[in-house]
Amino acid sequence: MKKVTIVANWKSNVSLHEVDAWTKQMENCKWHVDQKEVIVCSPFTLLQSLKSLISDTQLGLKLGAQDVSPFPKGAYTGEVAAIQLKEFVQYVIVGHSERRKYFYEDDQMLANKVDMALEAGLLPIFCVQDVHAIIPKGVRIVAYEPVFAIGTGEPDSPENADDVAREIKETVNVATVLYGGSVSSENVRTFTSMENIDGVLVGSASLDPVSFSSIVTNA
Ligand code: PEP
Repeated sequence: MKKVTIVANWKSNVSLHEVDAWTKQMENCKWHVDQKEVIVCSPFTLLQSLKSLISDTQLGLKLGAQDVSPFPKGAYTGEVAAIQLKEFVQYVIVGHSERRKYFYEDDQMLANKVDMALEAGLLPIFCVQDVHAIIPKGVRIVAYEPVFAIGTGEPDSPENADDVAREIKETVNVATVLYGGSVSSENVRTFTSMENIDGVLVGSASLDPVSFSSIVTNA
């Protein structure tokens, strides 16, 4: 039986006062950590609080960030370096389509981010929007997230997502390919049951802990 990875991407949502309720609800959701890897990628502002809550409640959640500086630590105002993130997280999302679109992140910058993450011992979750995207060396986890499916309620078909995942695995040496784009508790299993899809990346539906718990349960 393959291990399924479920990643929550909170984007620029959730405030400190909401974190407690979210984790409390997740305490009702039980999963075997050897069967499912559940990762929450929160804003930087919540990492400290989530880290404490997860360890206090012994929730089997892992922590991730949503971005990382392409530079080492130093004089880069506003950036958070990989080595700083390593104090809180194991994972970091790199190359999300919103970063590419709104922050003009190009292939070179994304490769630099991946290098920084790997050097610090973080695992990049590298997002690609189609099968032609350049995947930097060293990436082991890829998330296929077609732009038309993000936040629209119109997911890709499981068959097409599986074809893309297979092609990525045949071309690049990656261990894990996730699908992201309008994943819900109703459709999650149609993706995770596909041969080449190892899990899902969840945006909107991860904000509500009840929906996210159902996704984890059904995945
Ligand atoms: C995302 O933005 O990574 C995403 C998958 O969003 P949603 O689940 O809302 O489509």
